[in-house]
Amino acid sequence: MSSLPLTQNINEQRDPVDLAAYEKNHGYEAVRKALKEMSPADCLQEVKDSGLRGRGGAGFPTGMKWSFVPMDDASEGHKYLVCNADEMEPGTFKDRLLMECDPHQLIEGMILSAWTIQADVAYIFIRHEYHLASKLLQEAIDDCKAKGYLGKDILGTGFNLEMYVHSSAGRYICGEETALISSLEGKRANPRAKPPFPQISGLWGRPTIVNNVETLCNITHIIRNGADWFKSLGIGNDSGTKLFGVSGRVKNPGCWELPMGTPIRELIEEHAGGMEDGYKLRGFLPGGASTDFLVEEHLDLAMDYDVIGKAGSRLGTGTMIILDDKTCPVGMVKNLVEFFAQESCGFCTPCRDGLPWTAQVLDDIDTGKGMKVDMATLKNQVRFIGAIGNTHCALAPGAMEPVSSAMKYFADDFEEHIKGKACPYCESNSTAGGV
Ligand code: SF4
Repeated sequence: MSSLPLTQNINEQRDPVDLAAYEKNHGYEAVRKALKEMSPADCLQEVKDSGLRGRGGAGFPTGMKWSFVPMDDASEGHKYLVCNADEMEPGTFKDRLLMECDPHQLIEGMILSAWTIQADVAYIFIRHEYHLASKLLQEAIDDCKAKGYLGKDILGTGFNLEMYVHSSAGRYICGEETALISSLEGKRANPRAKPPFPQISGLWGRPTIVNNVETLCNITHIIRNGADWFKSLGIGNDSGTKLFGVSGRVKNPGCWELPMGTPIRELIEEHAGGMEDGYKLRGFLPGGASTDFLVEEHLDLAMDYDVIGKAGSRLGTGTMIILDDKTCPVGMVKNLVEFFAQESCGFCTPCRDGLPWTAQVLDDIDTGKGMKVDMATLKNQVRFIGAIGNTHCALAPGAMEPVSSAMKYFADDFEEHIKGKACPYCESNSTAGGV
C-alpha cells in the first residue's frame, strides 16, 4: 500500500497508464470488492469514516454530501454522478496530472462512487482545453467497456453504468456545481438557487452528485485499503494525501502529492526549491486565486482545512501562488479581479457590475491615477461584494479575498502608489508629469 496512492502509477515522463498496467498494480480490485462484497451502504460508511473532504476547493465532507442522496424505493429512476474536471482556477493544475497520467484511477473511483449512490449514468465534465486528458479518458472508458467494468451488468453483478466524457464550452463558473449542471443540460451556465440541492434535484431534476477529480480518485484507495488506512496518511487534522502545487518565482514550480497537514514551509522551501535567486517571499495565496493572502509569519502552519481557515484564508485547491518582493501586489490583485470579472455569469449586480468597478479602481491605483478616496471605495466593495449572501454564488466573494487580504498585508504598497502617483515596481506606469 503506497503512502502516496494518487501518484503511485505516475512516472517522471508522465506516460499515461493503460488498462493492463493499471490492473497489474491492483487496478479495479476495489470495483470487484465493492460490487461483489459490499453494499452501497457499506461503501458510504467507509467513505464517511475515512474523513475525506472534497478536493475541489470547498472541503465539504464527501460521505456527508453523498448521504443526502435518497436511496429509498421512491427514488427509483436515473441518478447521476458528475465528475467536475473543469479545472480553471488560475494557478491550479492538479487534476490535469491525474487525468493525463492515470485515467483509470479516476474511472475506478467513479464506478465505486456511482455504485455507492446507485447512479446509472456518469459524466466527466472536462475543461475544453484539456484535449489530451479528454482523449485518454475516452480511450480508457472504451477499454473498460470492452473488459466489462462499464456498461450493462458490470462483472456479472447486475449493476449498470454508462460513462461519458463531456467537453465543456469553457467558463470558470462551470466549476460551480449547479452552473455545471445547467451547462450539461445545454443551458446557459448560471448557478441555481439552493435548495433544492443537487443531491435531491440535480441534472434533469434527478438526484445528482458532483465531485472533483481528485476527490473521486481518492475513493478508489479508500474502498481498496479502508478508512483507517486513509486516515493514517494525513499528518495533521485531515485525512489522506493531497496534490499540492506551487507557482510563482520559486526554483522548482510544480505539483506534488504530500500528506494532508504538510507544513507550508516544507512545500515552498523543499519541494518547490525555495525562492529564485534575487527574489524574496512576500506572501502567498495558499489555495489558488480566490483565497486570502498569507505571509511569512504563516510559513510554519500546516496545509489543513481548519488551520488555514483559522489563519484567515482557505486551503482551496491546495495550489499556492507566490507573491515575491519584485512583483506589485496591487497589479497582481488587479490581474486576478479582471479574470473573475470576465468570468462572472452576469446574473447578479454586485458581481456583474461590482467586479469590473473594483478592477477599474485597482487599475487607477496601479497606474498612478489613484486617489485617497479609492481606498475607502475598495473597502466598501470588499464589504459588500465580498459578503456571502449578497451574491447568488461564491464567485464574487472569492474574487474579493485576495483584494481584502492584500489591503491588510500590503497597505503600504497601496499608499505608495497613491502618494507617488506611480507604481513603485514599474516606473513606466507613472502618470506623473501629466501623461
Ligand atoms: Fe453569476 Fe457572479 Fe452572481 Fe455567481 S456571483 S451567480 S458568477 S453573477
